[in-house]
Amino acid sequence: MDTTVEVILVWKSLHTVMKIYRNQYKTSESLRRIQEKRIRFLVDFAYHNSPVYHRKLRDAGITPQDIMNVEDMQKIPLITKEEIKSVFPHGIVTPGFSQDNCTVKTTSGTSGSVITILYDREAQSHFSAISYRDHLAQGLRPWHKFFILYHDPAQLKKSSRTILQRVKGVSGTLPEEELVKEARDFQPDFMGGHPSAYVAMATVVKNRGIEDLNPQAVLLGGEVAYPSYRTYIEKVFRCRTLNKYGAYEAYSIAWECQHHEMHINADSVLVEFLKEGEPVAPGERGEIVITNLWNKAMPFIRYRMGDVGIPSEESCSCGRGLPLMKDLEGRADDFIVLPSGRAVPPTRLIPPFFLSPHVGEFKIIQERKSCIRIQLVPRGTLPEKEEKALLQELRNVFQEPVEIEVEKVERIRQKGRGKFKAVISKAGMSLF
Ligand SMILES: [Zn+2]
Repeated sequence: MDTTVEVILVWKSLHTVMKIYRNQYKTSESLRRIQEKRIRFLVDFAYHNSPVYHRKLRDAGITPQDIMNVEDMQKIPLITKEEIKSVFPHGIVTPGFSQDNCTVKTTSGTSGSVITILYDREAQSHFSAISYRDHLAQGLRPWHKFFILYHDPAQLKKSSRTILQRVKGVSGTLPEEELVKEARDFQPDFMGGHPSAYVAMATVVKNRGIEDLNPQAVLLGGEVAYPSYRTYIEKVFRCRTLNKYGAYEAYSIAWECQHHEMHINADSVLVEFLKEGEPVAPGERGEIVITNLWNKAMPFIRYRMGDVGIPSEESCSCGRGLPLMKDLEGRADDFIVLPSGRAVPPTRLIPPFFLSPHVGEFKIIQERKSCIRIQLVPRGTLPEKEEKALLQELRNVFQEPVEIEVEKVERIRQKGRGKFKAVISKAGMSLF
């Protein structure tokens, strides 16, 4: 590449990084202005270029002129992953963009439903700067050594090209003993990846009495970071954990600052928290719906993430103007909705099993409306008294008659698989 062109490209990326860095300290009014400018552009762009959004807006009887601000977005019908899959690529990928001139991402799909997402160059550069900002805010500096577990082989290949940080990318699907060995050889300042993988690594570190793996922090993401998992990782590695909520559909959505508040990247993504189609009040549980404000190659407008979160009106003492949300409670289908209609988040069910010295692995499955099956791998033998106490703890959480079955098995987690869910519901009960 010509040196002048290269200098211009580096200058442009630095300019993007600086602009995005400054955004986080803007007031909520100015962040709202940034959002609304992008909303107007994106809706107009999608209406004229993307068949699926053109049809959705036309069927709802609206034109881009009807969408001027954040509130107007509620007029646009929601879109689901299944709908996007059904029209991919011609109904959703903007003409002129293809796998040849875009960055291609594939979602990991805990539910088995995988989609391919194309990012145009401008959006990719914007979101790389956003990720850089998240990491800086979490304490990671360019000179730090960063050990990352990747669950996507494409990402693993790319990580070796990173020049801004000293990154060692390792496949998160390797056995935990091997991951611990790789991390000890590298001696990282920071580690990052799925919480369940770090829980497995922490168990190796604890059982073998390893003392020479002490990063400053473990940056968690990709799965829900349950409080009991975090406490365990923090205790074993003697460090902090900081969380991140992201998905390829919107890249980085929110991240936890060093004051332990989750900041939403409002200059990049519009996050709505809905119940029966209406925004919930701050502090209330809602279904997360996102609009990616930058990606033109494959727009995501009012896309149902399937996650459950709580908006917050509070502000953070770190001084950032980026709005806050409470930590994720799980995916909508991880909640156990009881026969009475009461919803129990997975965070309430995990601690007794996770903290029991007699339980190795476990999985809580709602088979039917009033039937819960607990699969567990006992550590040695599970005393009858302990089993009874565990079931009683569950009954105390449920507080209504539910049949609970215990099934003792030899192994639950499968090697080589990506995300792990400790609680799932097959009952098909709707949370929202
Ligand atoms: Zn903060």
